[in-house]
Amino acid sequence: MGDFREETRAWLEQNCPPGARGPGYVPIGSKSIELEPDTRVWLDRMIEKGWTVPTWPKEYGGADLDREQYSILIDEMKRIDARPPLTGRCVNYIGPTILEFGTDEQKARWLPICARGEGAWAMGYSEPGAGSDLASLSTKAVRDGDNYVINGRKTWTSDATYCDYIFVLVRTSPDKPKHEGISLVLVDMHQPGVSVHPIRLISGASPFCETVFEDAVTSVSNVIGGVDRGWTVGKRLLQFERSTHAGINISGSQGGRSEAYSLPDKVRHYVGEKDGRIADRELRDRLVQNDMNTRIQKITQRRAIAESQGRAPGFASSVVKLTNALNIQEGDELLMEAMGSQGCRHRAQDAVR
Ligand SMILES: Cc1cc2nc3c(=O)[nH]c(=O)nc-3n(C[C@H](O)[C@H](O)[C@H](O)COP(=O)(O)OP(=O)(O)OC[C@H]3O[C@@H](n4cnc5c(N)ncnc54)[C@H](O)[C@@H]3O)c2cc1C
Repeated sequence: MGDFREETRAWLEQNCPPGARGPGYVPIGSKSIELEPDTRVWLDRMIEKGWTVPTWPKEYGGADLDREQYSILIDEMKRIDARPPLTGRCVNYIGPTILEFGTDEQKARWLPICARGEGAWAMGYSEPGAGSDLASLSTKAVRDGDNYVINGRKTWTSDATYCDYIFVLVRTSPDKPKHEGISLVLVDMHQPGVSVHPIRLISGASPFCETVFEDAVTSVSNVIGGVDRGWTVGKRLLQFERSTHAGINISGSQGGRSEAYSLPDKVRHYVGEKDGRIADRELRDRLVQNDMNTRIQKITQRRAIAESQGRAPGFASSVVKLTNALNIQEGDELLMEAMGSQGCRHRAQDAVR
């Protein structure tokens, strides 16, 4: 394994351009996004190595890395602060779902597109009348020859304004019990039957959208995992989503993502120092606790990756996702307190970068 680490280190040193190192993200691939030159070079080189989806089979654009090699790759990327070349719903959610449930034709058709980052994907699960009770969804897909015709509306579809494709939970058998009449279909968003309407939040931003389907069309060959099997397939996709947020999804690359300033640095910036320490004792104690929790979280993430037998862990993904979210929330609240009145103007995550 020593050779793999050395070769990886040397290759990354040589091939990761300066503009692809340091804090920040490479935007999820979309035909409509123009990339910075260094980011383009980095993405192309990683695609060639199969390292945008390092654990996927080579025939679908991956590099067939085993778990140990994958964790070495991530370590080495972090060492030089390389940004992950691709993350998002393509490589982290729908890609692994197709890998697990798709037919050979579906894998050959869709996975290389994901691996090359050629399309941005939206997620069409929630509806105005189906949130927590997702199985009540009413968006309908009716068979018409070799196609399905889709009608209905999906809400909270993140980033849909600049997405190319959407994976959608639709009702294919309205007469069956509600969990048994649902299918997961892939839909091209560039068609007249699909329209996207941004939802303006109280902050003024509109990262979420309503996506409306009016006689939108998709081929029957785009049903993943079989007709009326969408509840099982859709739940598996949610496991991949959760494990991505928990930092333990090994589909797609998760290297890099460093922050320019740590949470203690940010708090120090706003609260100031006394005798070389953060001035506010109570905040300092809470920061130490948060830092300990963050370190425990990272060790637990690594353990969960090492222990997982499948491509995405089962219950561990939910546990680690929840503790991760609570820890980040606590950190953001701490920072808001440190910022005082300035915290009203900025979101905590926008503070000193
Ligand atoms: C950051 C973010 C991004 C998202 N992106 C997407 C996306 O890309 N695509 C997508 O499809 N969806 C997306 N969602 C939507 C998300 O999955 C839904 O918000 C979620 O399914 C909950 O649905 P809802 O908002 O309608 O809440 P509701 O279902 O109305 O629930 C509101 C509250 O009532 C509680 N509640 C509901 N039912 C019960 C019950 N029976 N008993 C007790 N309490 C109950 C819930 O726990 C919750 O606290 C996103 C959400 C967030 C926050």
